[in-house]
Amino acid sequence: MTIPVQALQDLPPLARHQTSRSQPTIAANHLGVRVSPGFAKADGLGDEPMWFACDPQPLRDAKLVSVSAAACQDADLSVDAVQTSPDWLRLLSGAATFEEVPSYATAYAGHQFGFFVPRLGDGRALCLGQVNGREFQLKGAGSTPYARHADGRAVLRSSVREFLCSEAMAALGIPTTRALSLVTSSTPVFREIPEPAAIVCRTAASFVRFGHFEYFSQRARPDRIDQLIKQLLEVDPTLMMAPEGLTPKERIGALIHAVSGRTARLMADWTSVGFMHGVMNTDNFSILGLTIDYGPFGFMEAFEANAICNHSDGQGRYAFNQQPSIGLWNIQRLLLALWSSIPEDDTGGPAAFDRLHDEVVASYRRDFDKAFRDHFRQKLGLETLVPDQRPLAEQLIDTLFECLEQQQADFTQFFRATSKIDPGTSPGHVSWEPLVQTLALPDRAQAWLGMYAAALSPSNLGDSADQWRAARRAKNPAFVLRNWVAEAVIRSLEDEADAAPLAAALAVLGDPFEDHPAHAQWRETPPGWAKELSVSCSS
Ligand code: AMP
Ligand code: MG
Repeated sequence: MTIPVQALQDLPPLARHQTSRSQPTIAANHLGVRVSPGFAKADGLGDEPMWFACDPQPLRDAKLVSVSAAACQDADLSVDAVQTSPDWLRLLSGAATFEEVPSYATAYAGHQFGFFVPRLGDGRALCLGQVNGREFQLKGAGSTPYARHADGRAVLRSSVREFLCSEAMAALGIPTTRALSLVTSSTPVFREIPEPAAIVCRTAASFVRFGHFEYFSQRARPDRIDQLIKQLLEVDPTLMMAPEGLTPKERIGALIHAVSGRTARLMADWTSVGFMHGVMNTDNFSILGLTIDYGPFGFMEAFEANAICNHSDGQGRYAFNQQPSIGLWNIQRLLLALWSSIPEDDTGGPAAFDRLHDEVVASYRRDFDKAFRDHFRQKLGLETLVPDQRPLAEQLIDTLFECLEQQQADFTQFFRATSKIDPGTSPGHVSWEPLVQTLALPDRAQAWLGMYAAALSPSNLGDSADQWRAARRAKNPAFVLRNWVAEAVIRSLEDEADAAPLAAALAVLGDPFEDHPAHAQWRETPPGWAKELSVSCSS
């Protein structure tokens, strides 16, 4: 493999940015929080700056419609304080910033649908600073120097989706940026039609993306790449153990292996809940291995291995079954960017690059495969199989997806129904009914069901039947954010200014392994009105 040299395209200069602070400010002390510049360290300025200071643009008639108690807890904040304090509303709606630190937008590049774009950046995301150890980022707070003539806003519908899905993923145990709050407004934004603008406040230890490294790589700024790595290690020392004594090449090797492992496991996590991201560009991939940038995502309903959730992705580049290999493709882009920061005399030449590349590809595949198999063994309840039955578990997993596709089984319902099974009974037994009902043509699935029932014989399993079922309930969620549920919540907010469904959805998705009988309808496949829903990149 050779390293392509990317020519820096002729880019117009960035629009003049606002460094004066014209916005009202609020002292962090006053709110009882610790604030620091986080990513926006002073030495990230100068030529080729890593960030620009810029003020948010407030929303009109800002209203805090929802606050995630779990995200507040994660950031060591009192949910009551956030919900009731006028100062928090001003911060979360772009009407004020912290006195101690500037708000800022960062520079990144990225491969979008396979093509390199040399300058993207936070066009509509603005960090307020690091609060209690978490970066707080407003999405939709107005244009920044990276807005590329766009309005810097986010529409309500996409904000509701990001808000709910961030918290749903966190509750499913999947690494993700969090969503602390959703603010609505009467500020209009123009997409195909005028729509209300909203702001989600996202939180994460870091929002650094693969694209941040690509940006400074193509600008030949190894010092900036170094700085990015140092800053990442400050917020997440577990990313790389004992980085001090390493040579630049060893450090890059350790980092790429760490990010590759996290990315591979994240791809397996997504697969395990049927999550489709929709826009897996390198600028939407987090160095910390978090799910980031919720746009036209979807959760698998009737199983289709090559389902495409993003209406704008005509080629299916980001189809469900492409996600693991796209994760690897993105890791390869990151490796190229990181490698470019090693002083040329220290690289060991193309052979050394090829060696590292091949090791990373092999370990990514191993990490993905292990995480994928662990997930599906647990989902099916095969993790405690006695050793001589393990080949049967592997065979069941290997044939599962073809069976699900042939049966058009609803992904979430199918796995959840395993928690009703009485292990040791045959698929004709009443305890199998919920599972069998998720299948379109149960007769044609007899072979797979028979093999599964045989594997679940009590003599093969270590657990009691009750323990076994409880473990299935804890592994297979009853609720994921179905598109039609998000749409119903959005319509209630937009058409009736009714935030009750949003609050209910946040509560249910924040506790997805319980049954929540009052909201049993949200476990169902789309009703008639929602059959043709589609989501695209426009937001
Ligand atoms: P996304 O598709 O949301 O991941 O965004 C891709 C790039 O476009 C990022 O650099 C965003 O900051 C930028 N972007 C998307 N929408 C807007 C907008 N309304 N205003 C400014 N920048 C935007
Ligand atoms: Mg993005």
